[in-house]
Parts: sequence; structure tokens; C-alpha cells
Amino acid sequence: MQRIVLASSNRGKLAEFNTLLADSHFEVVPQAELGVEDVEETGLSFVENALLKARHASRAAGLPALADDSGLCVAHLRGAPGLYSARYSGGHGDAEANNARLLRELEGVAEGQRSAFFICVLALLWHAEDPAPLIAEGRWQGRVLEGPRGERGFGYDPLFLPHDQALSAAELAPEVKNRLSHRGQAMVKLHARIAERHS
Ligand code: IMP
Repeated sequence: MQRIVLASSNRGKLAEFNTLLADSHFEVVPQAELGVEDVEETGLSFVENALLKARHASRAAGLPALADDSGLCVAHLRGAPGLYSARYSGGHGDAEANNARLLRELEGVAEGQRSAFFICVLALLWHAEDPAPLIAEGRWQGRVLEGPRGERGFGYDPLFLPHDQALSAAELAPEVKNRLSHRGQAMVKLHARIAERHS
């Protein structure tokens, strides 16, 4: 088993990544378990931040590293909340306040102007100086609703109506969301890239 450090402290993600890498001889260890602190996310894009996080964790732990970065981009708001999705309203991870701000920013904006996508970028480095990281991106297209719908999921899910769906992301069964979502798509792609590398 090759240990690999996960540049995230999120428990839900650890379980998802362990499943993703189940048949790849990797054991995923969260960075906090190895005493690795969060790095400042100074990049201007999701891919830059995913690489920053993976490089920092790999260097600090002396192991291969996997990182992800994700958020919601709204066309009418020139990509906001974007990189700042988790702290759009100020405090980190206050989903209710973030959703309230998003609704405020889009007040009076017609349905046809409310298109948005979730994005997730995964970056896998084999060592801290790896010049050829494996990168996988998933995007989930949809639009921002005029009010919250559904109790499942997290973050902006109650305000997101995926393209071609009658249910919001917070109304979808978790296995359906995982199959359609930006994170699910990015994971399938990364899995394929890892398999390619080993074939
Ligand atoms: P992080 O990559 O875990 O830091 O996520 C950034 C932020 O983007 C989260 O705090 C959420 O606000 C938002 N976000 C990312 N993925 C999702 C999702 O699947 N549903 C709802 N919100 C999400």
C-alpha cells in the first residue's frame, strides 16, 4: 500500500477519496493526521489553488498528495462567488448566509440570466516537485433558483437547479447527485487517468 496525503481536513471527502482510490493500492491519509497545516489559498483559479494545496501537503508530508478545490460560478456575477464560495458572506462555511447573499445579488434577475455551474478540480502529485501532476476537472451546469428547495446536500445545493433536472441539487438522492455532480465527474476522470498511468 502506498500512502498518499489528502490536502483537506473534510471527513466526507476522505471517505469519497478512499472509495475513488480503493483499487489503486493507495491509502489516503488526511493531512491533519500528519501534522500538516492548511496553506493560504492565494491562487486566482481553482486549478492554481488545488496545485498549491497538493504541493504544500506533499512537501510537508514527504508523500504523494491529492487536493481538490471547488465552488459555484454564476455567469451574471462574472464567476462569483467562485473561489470565495465558502466565505461569500464573510464567515467561512456559513451556508445559510452565503445563500442569502447569492439571492440578494441576483434579486430581480430573470430566469434566463441565472445560469451557473459548480466546478471541482482535483490535483494529484507524485512528489513535491512533480512537474506533470494529474489534473481532473468536472463542471455541473444549471441555474440559480429564486428561493431554496430541498433539505439534502450542503452549501449552495438548495439554490441550484441542474440542467435537465426537475429537482434541485438538495432534492436529489445523494447517489444521483454524486453521479451527476462536478465532484463525481472529476473523480471519474481522475480515476481513468490513474488507471492509464498504471496500464
Ligand atoms: P471546498 O472546495 O470544500 O472548499 O468548497 C468550497 C465551497 O463551494 C463550499 O463551501 C460550498 O459553498 C461550495 N460547494 C462546492 N461544492 C458544492 C456542492 O456540491 N454543493 C453545494 N455547494 C458546493
